[in-house]
Amino acid sequence: MKLKILGSQGALPKRGMYSTSQILNIKNKYILIDCPEGIQFQLKNFKIKFSKIDFILISHAHGDHYFGLIGLISTYSLLRRKNKLKLFCPRVVSEIINAQIKISSMFLSYELEIIELNSEKSETIYESNDFSIFTIPLRHSIYSNGFLFQEKNNKRKLNLDLAQKLNINKVYYNKLTQGENVFNENGEEIDYREVTSKGLKNKSYAFCSDTRYFPNIIKKISKVDLLYHESTFLEKDKEKAKLTWHSTAKDAAKIARDAKVDKLIIGHFSSRYENLDLFVNEVKQIFQNVELAFDGKDIDI
Ligand SMILES: [Zn+2]
Ligand SMILES: [Zn+2]
Repeated sequence: MKLKILGSQGALPKRGMYSTSQILNIKNKYILIDCPEGIQFQLKNFKIKFSKIDFILISHAHGDHYFGLIGLISTYSLLRRKNKLKLFCPRVVSEIINAQIKISSMFLSYELEIIELNSEKSETIYESNDFSIFTIPLRHSIYSNGFLFQEKNNKRKLNLDLAQKLNINKVYYNKLTQGENVFNENGEEIDYREVTSKGLKNKSYAFCSDTRYFPNIIKKISKVDLLYHESTFLEKDKEKAKLTWHSTAKDAAKIARDAKVDKLIIGHFSSRYENLDLFVNEVKQIFQNVELAFDGKDIDI
C-alpha cells in the first residue's frame, strides 16, 4: 500500500498548502480520500493522472473535505472519462452533488455510482478478493466517518528455481502462491509449502478524519500498520478543540497508544500554529513513532 498526502491542513487556506486529502494505492486501485477545494491543482502539482482514480471517499460534509468534488466530477466529463467512478459519501453530500449536476444540466461521460453513508455503526462498504474498506464512525459537529483499509490474500512467494526443478508447469505458479497444491508434469502432487514461503503481511491503514477524542474507535483500529489521526490543536488549546469538535496532538497520541498501532501520522493543523514541531513533541510524550503530514509526503505502508 502506498499513501500520498495531497493536503495536510485544517479548514483555513494557507499559502501553498491544501486542506486534508490523500491518495491511497491499494492493490493497484487508486482511492482519493477527501476532496477539498483546489484538489485538481494538487493532483496536477504531483503529476497524478486524474483517470487513475477509481474511488472517492468523503468523510463528512464540511467544505474543507468536499468542496473540490463537483469540480473533479465535472472535469472527468471534459476529459471524456469512460470508466465508472465510485463515490462513497454522507447522504447529504450525495444530495448536494446530485442537485449540482441536475441544476447545471451537467452531462457525465461516465457512470457515477454514489454509495450513501448514513450508519452510526461501522460497516463494510467495499470488499474484493484483494482488500476491504470499513467505515469508522467518528464524533464531530456533524456526521463524520473515518475509513479502515485492510489488505487480504497477499500471495505466498514462489521459489522459482525449485518450481522449475520440480518440473511444474508455469500455468500452476499462481495456484501455488495462493496456497493450493498442484500436479507437476510427471503427475506427482506438489505441496505448495514445499515451493513457496510466507508472502507479505496483509497491511492495514486507518484514516481518522475530523473528530473529537473518541476512544470508541480504538477496537476498530487496533494494531493497524498506519493510523492517520487529525490533530487540529495543541493541548494548551484543548478548550477550543472541545468547542469545535476536534482533537489535540495529545488526544491523537492516546488513541495511537491505546490502539497499539505501528505508526501515527498527524494532520489537519489549525492555521494559528507556525511551528508544527510542537505537535510532534506533544505526541512523543505518549507515543514515539509519529510523523507530521505535509503536502506531497509519500508513505509506504
Ligand atoms: Zn476539516
Ligand atoms: Zn470538519
